[in-house]
Amino acid sequence: MPAPDTGLIQALVIASHGRHFMAEDAQGQHWQLFGKGKRREVAVGDSVLLSPSGDCQAWVEQIEPRRNLLYRSDALRSKLFAANLDAVLLVLAVNPPYSPELLGRTWVACRHAGVPLHLIFNKADLLDKQAHEALEDELKEWTLGETPIHFISATEAPGEAIERVRPLVQGKRVLILGQSGMGKSTLINALIPHARAATNTVSEALNAGKHTTTHTQMHRSDDGLCLIDSPGFQAFGLHHLSEQDLLNEFPDIAEPGLRCRFANCRHLKEPDCAVKEGLENGDISEARFELFDLLRNELGSA
Ligand code: GDP
Ligand code: ZN
Repeated sequence: MPAPDTGLIQALVIASHGRHFMAEDAQGQHWQLFGKGKRREVAVGDSVLLSPSGDCQAWVEQIEPRRNLLYRSDALRSKLFAANLDAVLLVLAVNPPYSPELLGRTWVACRHAGVPLHLIFNKADLLDKQAHEALEDELKEWTLGETPIHFISATEAPGEAIERVRPLVQGKRVLILGQSGMGKSTLINALIPHARAATNTVSEALNAGKHTTTHTQMHRSDDGLCLIDSPGFQAFGLHHLSEQDLLNEFPDIAEPGLRCRFANCRHLKEPDCAVKEGLENGDISEARFELFDLLRNELGSA
């Protein structure tokens, strides 16, 4: 549909494959995108204005202002990943074991971008009551109790799992992430049948025989579900954060940090360090402090 007065076509970016992007207009036509300079920096979920140039190809003339934006990390660089999201679902499981570091990074990235995060703990059928409770405590510690946790079993109780997850997704635009083996494909296919088959077609069109592993793809169903899937996803890019940004995402460290003797205390070996005290008496999670220190050391490195 042409945007008023400009003659440009309004479209939604629905897939990326390496540096290639595809958008869909209101008629359902797909456009392979080209852009110059800043206009090349699009993300899946972006709303764009296009000027067609030949067969199903178009120039990005404008990227509409974003509600939010997440970055992914690729060989130590941050790249635009997904925009205008209503939520992120992170799928976790015990077997194979989930990565606490990925959980921590996801939590920081979402909190910084202002996107609500939900943890979907899959394969709950593998947990006894004790393991379930221990995991719940562990996850609450990682997320400061701020993040809803949903235990499901995508294969053992598929109907129940879908009913739990559907309200988080219905009428929203949701990015779904998880390490390989967590059961993400099972869940996506349960929510939107044939979604993964569609992935391959669009991905092949964009990839045109090249070998890039990271692709991101939006799937929509007739009944209003919109999931963004990114099979090659490795990690969030957090290099664009400043140290103050990072501290804002670690209130459990920043607040006691105000009571350290030195205003610029790194909470490592300094005397009268309130954070070290908090770590010793268990008020501050060691795992979170380790992640904070790791992320702090990465800042500005790319
Ligand atoms: P993905 O790599 O995250 O996309 O994971 P898949 O959806 O391919 O699932 C990985 C494996 O976990 C498969 O063998 C699934 O059958 C299994 N799986 C998925 N969900 C569940 C579950 O709820 N319980 C159990 N026990 N296995 C599951
Ligand atoms: Zn300190």
